[in-house]
Amino acid sequence: MLVGVPKEIKTLEFRVGLTTGSVEELVHHGHQVIVETNAGEGVGLTDELYRAAGAEIVASAEEVFQRADMVVKVKEPQPNECRMLREGQVLFTYLHLAPDPEQTRLLKESGCIAIAYETVTDRRGHLPLLSPMSEVAGRMSIQAGAHALEKHKGGSGMLLGGVPGVEAARVVVIGGGVVGTNAIRMAMGMEAHVTVLDRSLDRLKELDFQFGCMLNTIYSTRESLWKHVTGADLVIGAVLVPGAAAPKLVSREMLREMRPGSVVVDVAIDQGGCFETSRATTHQDPTYVEEGVVHYCVANMPGGVARTSTFALNNATLPFTLALADKGYRQALADDEHLRHGLNVHRGDITYKAVADVLGYDY
Ligand code: NAD
Repeated sequence: MLVGVPKEIKTLEFRVGLTTGSVEELVHHGHQVIVETNAGEGVGLTDELYRAAGAEIVASAEEVFQRADMVVKVKEPQPNECRMLREGQVLFTYLHLAPDPEQTRLLKESGCIAIAYETVTDRRGHLPLLSPMSEVAGRMSIQAGAHALEKHKGGSGMLLGGVPGVEAARVVVIGGGVVGTNAIRMAMGMEAHVTVLDRSLDRLKELDFQFGCMLNTIYSTRESLWKHVTGADLVIGAVLVPGAAAPKLVSREMLREMRPGSVVVDVAIDQGGCFETSRATTHQDPTYVEEGVVHYCVANMPGGVARTSTFALNNATLPFTLALADKGYRQALADDEHLRHGLNVHRGDITYKAVADVLGYDY
């Protein structure tokens, strides 16, 4: 199969669909790979490195879309990319179609086979191609929070881990899933006092088993949230209610009770955020202060560490990319129900129920 990788064109998107390592695997499996010139430049993967891995470098995205049997990307195709897709061509990337009627219409019109990273499942019902980005965002949330606690950023001037003789910061993580667990790891590594609140007792038991007595696990209720959030130096919002907007768990009133200069990092901002006072920010201008509390609400945190994110994403996508290339999409989808869950658009039909329902298409 001929696999093509265009350069990402969304503003400030530096990630790339295939690393050189993934290219080498595909070539080893007998496939051809074409990569648009400079596609990996932003993450240190030069054209020379791609050539050494066995790829052919091509001059334009047009050539990638014209020649490839399967296009592998990171972000959803932009309108001009959708118009370049051909009937029967496979597109493997993040799509997030439900809130995007224009992209959905263009993908339908193209006649392509669009397989979305975010709806591929695994045996436990989890989303294995989303979780690498949650791991990245969870780990980054503590880094971001630690910087925001610094005085010149509006923070209280507190060092997360303290020093011998001076108290460490109190970090509260709301939601102990993938983001939360990774935030906990980083905060504990920096020697902060860490508390996690979740409303899943099973999850709290797993976290207790994993981290032991160094982690304070608390069942999430209005009362416990009030107590722990108002006493925290840094709060990480990491909740997810699948298929719904994030619940507003921290009210403005609660925030007013926090110590001035405390910090909240609302990782759940991409689902609307779990703090009443949250509004989405960007890597260029990541924080603002409201009620004396510094807010960090970057909706696309993994984009800030594009190199790590590219490699993390490829580790998760590569087995599926190889299956699609080796078997062809029909056989690969027939053999693997989890990959089949990724199929969102097939030759003009919407094949993912939630997308069809939201956008009013037949399913
Ligand atoms: P997850 O499903 O692994 O974990 C969510 C956790 O929230 C679960 O353990 C669940 O029990 C818990 N929860 C639900 N309601 C709760 C409540 N009322 N109180 C306490 N806990 C509650 O999800 P995840 O992968 O960790 O993702 C968390 C959030 O981070 C999502 O909204 C996701 O979209 C977002 N995210 C954002 C970025 C970004 O760049 N901003 C990147 C990755 C993920």
